[in-house]
Amino acid sequence: MDTARIAVVGAGVIGLSTAICISKLVPGCSVTIISDKFTPDTTSDVAAGMLIPHIYPDTPIHTLKRWFKDTFDHLYAIACSAEAADAGVHLVSGWQIFQSIPAEEVPFWADVVLGFRKMTEAELKKFPQHVFGQAFTTLKCETSAYLSWLEKRIKESGGLLLTRRLGNLWELQPSFDIVVNCTGLGSRQLAGDPTISPVRGQVLQVQAPWVKHFIRDGSGLTYIYPGASHVTLGGTRQKGDWNLSPDAQISRDIFSRCCVLEPSLHRACITKEKVGLRPVRPGVRLQKELLAHGGQRLPVVHHYGHGSGGISVHWGSAMEAARLVSECVQARRTPSPTSKL
Ligand SMILES: Cc1cc2nc3c(=O)[nH]c(=O)nc-3n(C[C@H](O)[C@H](O)[C@H](O)COP(=O)(O)OP(=O)(O)OC[C@H]3O[C@@H](n4cnc5c(N)ncnc54)[C@H](O)[C@@H]3O)c2cc1C
Repeated sequence: MDTARIAVVGAGVIGLSTAICISKLVPGCSVTIISDKFTPDTTSDVAAGMLIPHIYPDTPIHTLKRWFKDTFDHLYAIACSAEAADAGVHLVSGWQIFQSIPAEEVPFWADVVLGFRKMTEAELKKFPQHVFGQAFTTLKCETSAYLSWLEKRIKESGGLLLTRRLGNLWELQPSFDIVVNCTGLGSRQLAGDPTISPVRGQVLQVQAPWVKHFIRDGSGLTYIYPGASHVTLGGTRQKGDWNLSPDAQISRDIFSRCCVLEPSLHRACITKEKVGLRPVRPGVRLQKELLAHGGQRLPVVHHYGHGSGGISVHWGSAMEAARLVSECVQARRTPSPTSKL
C-alpha cells in the first residue's frame, strides 16, 4: 500500500483536530500541517473556549448536535483523565440568563451538557434584570494549552508542522496527494469563498480567582468565564470588522457590562485585552472538491467556517472531515475503469 501524502492547511483548533482524526482513521498516510500562524497567534487562541454551541443557519440542527456531542464526549474523557491540566480542559458550572423568556426554554443541546435545569427563583435573585435562566455544567478549553497539547500529539504520531503562507492551494501539487483546507477566514482567498467574513470579538482577561461560576447573557454578548489561570470577560460581535487592535473604549464597556452581572469584578485587575476574527459563514463548509489544471488533479477537502462556535464542535466535525479524506484515499487506491484501458 503506497503512502498517501496529506497536507492539512491551517493550525487553529480545526486544522489540528482534523490532522489527529486523519492519523487515527486513515492507515498508511503521512500528515503535514502547513500554516502561516500557529499557537499562540491563531483566532482559536483568542476563543474563550466554552462548550456552548452556536447555530449555523445552513447546518442542520441534528448535524450540529452530533458534532457537539462528539466534541463534548471527547473533551469530557480528557477532563476526567490525568491529562486534563496539560490539555487545559476542565468542567465548569454556571448560568445562562435571559431578560425575557427565550423561544426555546430547553435548547437542543440540553441533554449533552451535564445537569441541565431551569434556574430557581433563589438563583435568579442574583440577577435582578433577568427573568429566566438555565443552570448547567459544561466544559472549558484553555485554548492555547489545548492547541499546544494537540500539536504535541501530532508530532508524537509522526506528523510534521511547517510554517508557510499559501497564495493558493494548487501550490501543494505535486508534493501532496490530498489537501485539507482548514484555514478559517483565510478561505476567503484560498477557496475564493465570498460567503465567509469576519465577526470581530474582543475579550479581557482578568485576575478574579474568587469567581467560580460562569455567567452568560442569553444574547451571547456579555459573558464571564472563569478558567484555570484567569477569568475571561466578553465580548463583542462586530460584523465585517477586520481590526485586530484592542479598543480601549470597548474594553471599558465590556468591563462595566460584566460588573453589572458580577459586581465583585470591580476589584478585578485586567491583565490582557485580546481580539479575534470569527470565521463566520452561513454554514460550516465540509465538502470534497477536485481541483484540476493541465491534466493534473488535486483532491481537496474543505473544512472551515465555524464562526462563533468552533471550539464547541471541533472534534465532531473533524471526525467527519477525516471520513471525507478517507474516501479520497480509497478513490486514489481504487483504479478507475478508464485507467485500465
Ligand atoms: C473573542 C472570541 C471568543 C470565542 N469564544 C468561543 C467559545 O467560547 N466557544 C467556541 O466554541 N468558540 C468560540 N470562538 C470561535 C472560535 O474561536 C472559532 O470558531 C475557531 O477558533 C475557528 O477555528 P479555525 O481553526 O477554523 O480558525 P483559526 O484559529 O483562525 O485557524 C486558521 C488557521 O489557518 C491559517 N491560515 C489562514 N490562511 C492561510 C494561508 N493563506 N496560508 C497558510 N495558513 C493560513 C491560520 O494561520 C490559522 O493557523 C470565539 C472566537 C472569538 C474571536
